[in-house]
Amino acid sequence: MSQVQKASARSAPDQETDHGLTIRLMEHLIIPTFVIDCNSNVIIWNKACERLTGISAAEVVNTKDHWRGFYPQRRSCLADLVAQGRYTEINQFFPNWDGVGLSDFGVSVETSCPMPKLGRTLQLAVDAGPIYDDSGTLIAVVETLRDITAQKEAQFSLESLAALDGLTNLANRRSFDLALANSVRRAARENSHLSVLMIDVDHFKAYNDSYGHQKGDDCLRAIALKLRGTLRGKSDIAARFGGEEFAIILPDIAPSTAENVAERLRRGVQQLNIPHLASSVTDCVTLSIGGACGRGTELDPHALVAAADDALYRSKHNGRNQSSFAEIGAPSYLF
Ligand code: GH3
Ligand code: MG
Ligand code: MG
Repeated sequence: MSQVQKASARSAPDQETDHGLTIRLMEHLIIPTFVIDCNSNVIIWNKACERLTGISAAEVVNTKDHWRGFYPQRRSCLADLVAQGRYTEINQFFPNWDGVGLSDFGVSVETSCPMPKLGRTLQLAVDAGPIYDDSGTLIAVVETLRDITAQKEAQFSLESLAALDGLTNLANRRSFDLALANSVRRAARENSHLSVLMIDVDHFKAYNDSYGHQKGDDCLRAIALKLRGTLRGKSDIAARFGGEEFAIILPDIAPSTAENVAERLRRGVQQLNIPHLASSVTDCVTLSIGGACGRGTELDPHALVAAADDALYRSKHNGRNQSSFAEIGAPSYLF
């Protein structure tokens, strides 16, 4: 029996010693905490840990079943890895761990736990600290837990909001740039095609002048909805590039298919039949589109956008309400 176990056995009020007091303090500590000995037997499972996990101390003390509080199947908790000196396995069990939080005092991770008894997943900040006796021998590991679910959800909402355009709810310019850089890297890795479409609303200044800025905003929202609804859900990215300009990323489709998508988008918006009597093109809102496609390592985000912009200019120049397309073939075209 370890020293800590002995102390635990002496926690009756009439036998209270310093050790007993320590155990009692830990049991009533407001922070969810459990303690295992170096063989992973649970010594203490405090009241806050009972509340957090829905598992009582009676169910886990003197067993190796502490994992039940957090996971549906037996697996190592952070305290086990520390107790057994398995520091090199931390990443395997906590894949989001970035190596930060490892010190002489123990290890800290943030992790997602299914919490089977509670029936809902929690995001937990977990610290596991080794306890040594006077001779430096490891006698126990203390694991403390903090529920950071609300904080993580707030952070996620903020990050999502920061990635979206406020008017249209499409990706904003910043996330378009990030997504394009990622798509270019992926196309290079997989030697796949990648297309970008630049889209500009025709005579939109005149639209605002005729119908007012508010209706102009409604029009941009309706166009955004049509674009998003016409594209493939997961793989294609629709962004508001700025003002009345949109940009689309189409990964992994042949240039001819990307041309077809551009035409489908153009026709789809025209078929919304949003009245625009001040347009020189038709009596409803229309788009001009420029597309560019490249493949594999010949791609570069700036060159792709520049080529799509050139194609857009041709669509405008040739009378608007049309799409033009460029294929990036020779690497010399990029520079
Ligand atoms: P073109 O066919 O050559 O593209 O002509 P255009 O009038 O669309 O182009 P221009 O660049 O002259 O005008 C773009 C207009 O888009 C001017 C600006 O007021 C309007 N615009 C930009 N952002 C917004 C917005 O968020 N809401 C509204 N309502 N209008 C916007
Ligand atoms: Mg414009
Ligand atoms: Mg325009």
